[in-house]
Amino acid sequence: MPFLAGYAILYHMEALNSLEQWDDFVEGRYDPNRKTEDFRKYDDSAPSGVRDFYQLNHTNQTRDFVLEKKRQYASRGRTEMGIWEALEYLNTLVDDSDPDTDLSQIEHCLQTAEAIRRDGHPRWMVLAGLMHDLGKVLCLYGEPQWAVVGDTFPVGCAWSNKIVFPEFFAQNPDAKVPEYQTRNGVYEEGCGLDKVDLSWGHDEYLYHVTKDYLPMEALYMIRYHSFYPWHREGQYQHLMNDQDRAMLPWVQKFNPYDLYSKSAARPKVSDVKPFYEELIQEYFPARIAW
Ligand code: FE
Ligand code: FE
Repeated sequence: MPFLAGYAILYHMEALNSLEQWDDFVEGRYDPNRKTEDFRKYDDSAPSGVRDFYQLNHTNQTRDFVLEKKRQYASRGRTEMGIWEALEYLNTLVDDSDPDTDLSQIEHCLQTAEAIRRDGHPRWMVLAGLMHDLGKVLCLYGEPQWAVVGDTFPVGCAWSNKIVFPEFFAQNPDAKVPEYQTRNGVYEEGCGLDKVDLSWGHDEYLYHVTKDYLPMEALYMIRYHSFYPWHREGQYQHLMNDQDRAMLPWVQKFNPYDLYSKSAARPKVSDVKPFYEELIQEYFPARIAW
């Protein structure tokens, strides 16, 4: 059973010092001053923990794994929390990284939201910025890093070679399933991304938690913000439908706020909390199902 063997050996490795280490890697990779042809050089210089992380992610994110996680989490039967409560819960995630230089989870959420607010974007986009990483509570539920963060990609069809470290897919059991290795795989051309299963992580989980409450543009930002092969590399266009084409510019508009708002001043939580509590109330009831 190659599937079980590969899974068991690699499952307990974690690899990243902290979840932020993946965010930092992506931020550096997509630095506006970096040329596309230098991506590979950048990838090869990644710390070993980051490489190990991608190896785990690419090996273990099989179609079966993704479908199982969707069954487990899409019913939102785990708990009930308000949005601000979820932010505070996420903030209990303890990172091994240096507390002086790294932002807390709540600070990254607030910096992203504040940068969007400063640029005068719609209120739902500010809220999407505040909330976009709340799905990382999966880590606090005990999910391994490789099932929480990482650039996402479709499962059940051929992997694009524009996905970072494509060589690590050789160890994924789906590599041996011929049906999953064609251009469209189990999908129909133009079926729309909603029908496409992406590797499991914080994006997809938060989409299921928030889909009854936010406008479609905000839901696309939440659901696809880590889908770099699509919104940055232009891959998988053959699976898109008209709705995806209409929403892609919003996902692209959101991305720089996620990547590059870290250098901005650290917002004082107590100063901005009243604004965000009112904004949350505009869209959400006091508690929602997770
Ligand atoms: Fe994220
Ligand atoms: Fe983020």
